[in-house]
Amino acid sequence: MTYYPKPSARTQSRTLPKGRSFPRQRRRRSRRLLPLALLGLLLFGSGFLLGSTRVPSPLSQPEERTDLPAQIAQEPIASSTSPGSPAQAADKDTWELLLVNAEHPLPEDFQVPELTALRGGHAIDSRAYPALQQMMDDCRAAGLEPTICSSYRTRDKQEELFEKKLDTLLQQGYSPEEAEREAARWVARPGTSEHETALAVDIVDAAYQILDQQQEQTPVQQWLMTHCAEYGFILRYPTDKSDLTGIGYEPWHYRYVGTEAAEAITEQHLCLEEYLRDAPT
Ligand SMILES: [Zn+2]
Repeated sequence: MTYYPKPSARTQSRTLPKGRSFPRQRRRRSRRLLPLALLGLLLFGSGFLLGSTRVPSPLSQPEERTDLPAQIAQEPIASSTSPGSPAQAADKDTWELLLVNAEHPLPEDFQVPELTALRGGHAIDSRAYPALQQMMDDCRAAGLEPTICSSYRTRDKQEELFEKKLDTLLQQGYSPEEAEREAARWVARPGTSEHETALAVDIVDAAYQILDQQQEQTPVQQWLMTHCAEYGFILRYPTDKSDLTGIGYEPWHYRYVGTEAAEAITEQHLCLEEYLRDAPT
């Protein structure tokens, strides 16, 4: 996978200033280019009239909200400079292998990475965005309808979710201690949720948007479970690894770890905790 339909915002800002020139030069050049531009416009227009296929593919539904100019959107990202390159993935201290669980809360000095906004108010780490976009595009190209229902969460949002769960349990008659313990089984305590890293997304089938075990039977999950590693994602909380992850089976929670780690984890049937334990230091 070396071709991405849309680069991150970083690529955009790096590419744009190149076209700058001094105003006088630009005027002269534009006068010279005007007849060519008109000819181009004419040809382009007639192409449309003749039913040319320049219309964007109906399968390409970008997750990103912002529209980038077409010439920039076509620019492939060189895999050698991609942040998730395999050479780095073997080292467990990389950004994409950050371990966050009940025993490993987010580091005190954790800086929220540059984010790419997605549709529906969602966001993901810009470095993982091209892979997510490609996975969603390819899943749709297979005739399916994946829908992101959760992504990056601020600490405040995680606290709000935890408090909400706590309140519900207290209202149900749990003692404060019991409620606290029970809430943590369902909602990660603030600072221990992978969603705060901006590397995790919950994806459901548009036809079945319920977070329960039945989700694994949906065509979208079947496709994602088979292919997510190709894009650097893992199903983070498999059914038989709950003892190690501390989280129950979640057949909708995908975590970006880079392709090398994702493929090793999938092939060797590991969870991230096991992979990192065995990874070279
Ligand atoms: Zn999740």
